[in-house]
Amino acid sequence: MPIPEEFIQELKSRCDIAEVVSSYVTLKKAGRGLVGLCPFHNEKSPSFSVSPENGFFHCFGCGVGGDVISFIKRIENLDYVEAVKLLAQRAGMTVPEDNRHEGMAALKTRIYEANREAARFFHRQLYAPGGKEALAYLRKRRLTEKTIIHFGLGYSPGSRFELVNHLRSKGFSPSEMVQANLASLSRNGNPFDRFSDRVMFPIIDLRGNVIGFGGRIMSDIKPKYLNTAETPVFNKSRNLFALQFAKNKAKGRLILVEGYMDVIALHQAGFENTVATLGTALTQEQATIIKRYCDEVVLCYDADEAGQKATARAIDILRPTGLKLKILTVPDGKDPDEFIKAHGDQGPARFRRLLENSGNDVEFRLRKLRSRFNTEITEQRVAFLTEAAKLTATLENTIEQDVYISRLSEELNVEKNAIRQMVRKYSRYQNREYARKEQREIQRKISARDDRINTEKTFHLRAANAEEALLALMLTNADVAASVCPALSPERFMTSFNRKVYEVIRERIGRGADCTLMNISGVFSDQEMNAIAGMLASHPREPDPPAAAREYIQVLEDESQMLTPEQIVAADDQTLMEQLQKMKEKKK
Ligand SMILES: [Zn+2]
Repeated sequence: MPIPEEFIQELKSRCDIAEVVSSYVTLKKAGRGLVGLCPFHNEKSPSFSVSPENGFFHCFGCGVGGDVISFIKRIENLDYVEAVKLLAQRAGMTVPEDNRHEGMAALKTRIYEANREAARFFHRQLYAPGGKEALAYLRKRRLTEKTIIHFGLGYSPGSRFELVNHLRSKGFSPSEMVQANLASLSRNGNPFDRFSDRVMFPIIDLRGNVIGFGGRIMSDIKPKYLNTAETPVFNKSRNLFALQFAKNKAKGRLILVEGYMDVIALHQAGFENTVATLGTALTQEQATIIKRYCDEVVLCYDADEAGQKATARAIDILRPTGLKLKILTVPDGKDPDEFIKAHGDQGPARFRRLLENSGNDVEFRLRKLRSRFNTEITEQRVAFLTEAAKLTATLENTIEQDVYISRLSEELNVEKNAIRQMVRKYSRYQNREYARKEQREIQRKISARDDRINTEKTFHLRAANAEEALLALMLTNADVAASVCPALSPERFMTSFNRKVYEVIRERIGRGADCTLMNISGVFSDQEMNAIAGMLASHPREPDPPAAAREYIQVLEDESQMLTPEQIVAADDQTLMEQLQKMKEKKK
């Protein structure tokens, strides 16, 4: 156990799961618990529930669940020890020091330290004689001294050994450098710098840790950008460039651009709510993170074809989150950085005007759609109108729908009411389809998840159900747990996952320790915690817990007397007769 139990005990008493979850999800009271929209998958009707009484959450939609630590792990993308630390911080407690140097947590700490040291080194190199060209490059892009320092920009020398030698002098081992992806190993096993002769952009997480780098080459050599690959602290699909600054300036709106330079230029021009993906297309995970900090996203990608394709893809990912979308197209095929520079002192004001006048995603898609049809030809006009009505129907606000209906009516010279009827029809259809899709998804996930964690469940359905009900009862009722443990041997459990959970509970009860979900949280994987929270969620409170426990134990006793299908095949007549006799007695 990496963290002392007394500490978890204290943390448990100070962390209210409802309060912690509420800072991420809007919760409403429902019966004894709370419900809200799941932050881990996109949905319109709430299937995410929190039980403050028993300290767990569970989503009936995507199947995730667990205690307050599991919640923080998932939503903040942390490991167990980091999540405990964050919760402790909230509660005004300090995690005892000695477990910092264990396994993965220790490696992560070393990588953060190596990255921080590397960032400082790169920044210093910018002002060394070797960094002259890089500094000139940044100044040519009109970056001020203040901006360069604010973003901690730097330069990686071309010699291939300077960073490695520097890190070595600071006590970092070649293995640590390689695991941080700051160095690669040569054929004879010597480390050399991964980034060479590049302008360096440190990537910083929300807690201020340097988690990786983007490096831009100044010449025409490919690749133009080289990014830190996946490391224990860096996952490019779960982070956004400059979010650590932008989150405090968002005020409900974030601007999403393509590159580091665009972000930096916009921040310098006063648009500090700008972020970028890290050299990849926008991911689901990034969309979920974005949703946490704003209600509206302005997509501002390059005007070239690649940029427009990326815009269309980003719309598809962002739309289901329910975020309001706006599309800003910079005129004359420029990127935002070029646009602001081209207009000198007027740049920021002009960009603000573009921002205020940017259309929503439906407008963007209507324009694309329009270019595919020749509306002079009647058939094509009808086809366009049908597609346009479907698109307009995706707007949730009917007033907003009416704006487009009017425009289409004027443009195509078609009766407004006729278009409105079409749009409303598609709206109803889409809402129904959406609800059906959500339902199907839930069904699919429920069946898939049972197979994954408890693979034996389908063969011992009756026993497994009793096992789960009993475990749920024990995790929420200390007296029942204390009375069951001495009476029930783990061998009575037919499925090994449930047996494992029982053994963990039993071991704790045996030495007089407390046993709730949070106490056993450190032992189980995320998927296992999902399954255990699922047991709690699907077995609501029993009116007479001791009687219920006796009943479940009886089921387990009965089931363990039964022969398995394999045993029946292999059994002799005598055994089979006995088995039949038992079944008869049970029926009575
Ligand atoms: Zn969910």
